[in-house]
Amino acid sequence: MVRVLLKFRGKTVTQPVTSQVILEQRVPINILAASIDQSGGEILAEIPDQSAQKVIESFKAKGVEVKVGELIVVDKERCVDCGACYSLCPVNAITIDEEYKVNFDGNKCLGSTCGLCVDACPFRAITLVR
Ligand code: SF4
Ligand code: SF4
Repeated sequence: MVRVLLKFRGKTVTQPVTSQVILEQRVPINILAASIDQSGGEILAEIPDQSAQKVIESFKAKGVEVKVGELIVVDKERCVDCGACYSLCPVNAITIDEEYKVNFDGNKCLGSTCGLCVDACPFRAITLVR
């Protein structure tokens, strides 16, 4: 599955774009998380590998910005492994290893649909990719 962050702004918020893409492309899309209101927002979704490219192009053609890849960046120079972010993560994307190092799993992270660790970090070591 390919994880994509779909960013809705302007008229894409008021139209049933996601439903249109699913119906037109005949591809099941798994919604993992959403943070969206009438002014816009984001949906994090999974698309089957073999259909990813055509679905992404379909979203883009309808005016939706599509982001693929890492959703947060952790500055390891700033991170002191304090663990303040660890317990907040709703999907266990943050772990502490046997050497008490804090690690992030980009395959689990919900990115800007969550962002809880970003505000929690006292050293501003975590940045959302937008
Ligand atoms: S943004 Fe949310 S899901 Fe991602 S690592 Fe931080 S707390 Fe976890
Ligand atoms: S809160 Fe910040 S400094 Fe502490 S472990 Fe998390 S990323 Fe590192």
